[in-house]
Amino acid sequence: MSDHSDLLERLRAGLPQDAVVVDPDVTDSYRHDMAGFCEAGIPAVLVFPDTVEQVQHIMRTATELRVPVVPQGARTGLSGAANAVDGCILLSLVRMNRILELDPVNRIAVVEPGVVNAELSRAAAKYRLSYLPDPSSWETCTIGGNIGTGSGGLCCVKYGVTAEYVLGLDVVLADGQLLRTGRRTAKGVAGYDLTRLLVGSEGSLGVVVGAVVALKPTPPPQLALAAEFPSTDAACAAVCAVMEAGHTPSLMELMDTVTVRAINSLAQMGLPDSTAALLVAFDSLDPAADLAAAGELCRPGPPRSSRPPTAPSPTCCSRPADWC
Ligand SMILES: Cc1cc2nc3c(=O)[nH]c(=O)nc-3n(C[C@H](O)[C@H](O)[C@H](O)COP(=O)(O)OP(=O)(O)OC[C@H]3O[C@@H](n4cnc5c(N)ncnc54)[C@H](O)[C@@H]3O)c2cc1C
Repeated sequence: MSDHSDLLERLRAGLPQDAVVVDPDVTDSYRHDMAGFCEAGIPAVLVFPDTVEQVQHIMRTATELRVPVVPQGARTGLSGAANAVDGCILLSLVRMNRILELDPVNRIAVVEPGVVNAELSRAAAKYRLSYLPDPSSWETCTIGGNIGTGSGGLCCVKYGVTAEYVLGLDVVLADGQLLRTGRRTAKGVAGYDLTRLLVGSEGSLGVVVGAVVALKPTPPPQLALAAEFPSTDAACAAVCAVMEAGHTPSLMELMDTVTVRAINSLAQMGLPDSTAALLVAFDSLDPAADLAAAGELCRPGPPRSSRPPTAPSPTCCSRPADWC
């Protein structure tokens, strides 16, 4: 076994005692993400920083001693990108999991990288806002990992992917310097777009230690549709027809014969054996109702906060509907 005593001594000088882990029973379980087919090395140490300064200390130490660093979120990745390489520092960001700010006026959240995706949406829900990029792993994956991978989600065709929601980043570079990119405003067009460069860089350019992300009004409740087809071709033709007709469902999931049979036997869905393809589509309720409700809120009258949402109206902002 290699001697990492110098590295460990230097790391411990700037980290809490319980933030430096070398117990192989523990480090072993952090060597892999969810891609079982990818190789993983043996790390020198696993560290759990709690502050930006601690991450800076780790990166400075690693650079001085020429030790590779692998940042990790929740390790739900499916490409082995969070896997250990031999002799590395595994840098887990899961303890940096605070939501630092939720601003319903500017519709942004400022978060640490270890915040779990679903936790952010739950916290924003009290303002009727959501963080919309929703990988299927959203109950466990972290915002730092989402930024690392540039992740998409089930509803990304309608609502977009991570890159479209990250407005600004705090990133610790290899030499320990803290870089701040981007903005907190809805509009921001000046200068090089370093934020966009960093999203999807899988930790190769630096360690994300903070992010400003955009929140959006929570979409209305979803309606679901399931349609069965005699062939995958027929299901694909239906997808094309839906898009060509100008609809944008929030989700369209196509299942082929093998998947349909597997789910049918697992969940007893009662689908006939002749089902060769299943298309599941979700979309929200009629947005026209929202617009009418917004118009009602624009009417002069008593303080809005005391009024419950009202029924759709033919006029908006007390002007004729055709003006709006
Ligand atoms: C059941 C399941 C469903 C999934 N569904 C989807 C899906 O719908 N869409 C999708 O895109 N992905 C999906 N994934 C893949 C995965 O969940 C996402 O890629 C997710 O973004 C990874 O987040 P994580 O916190 O687990 O990151 P990790 O797996 O820990 O890390 C992912 C990458 O980001 C880097 N990284 C992590 N934290 C930081 C940081 N703070 N700074 C810099 N780099 C960092 C890592 O080095 C690595 O390269 C799914 C995975 C599972 C298991």
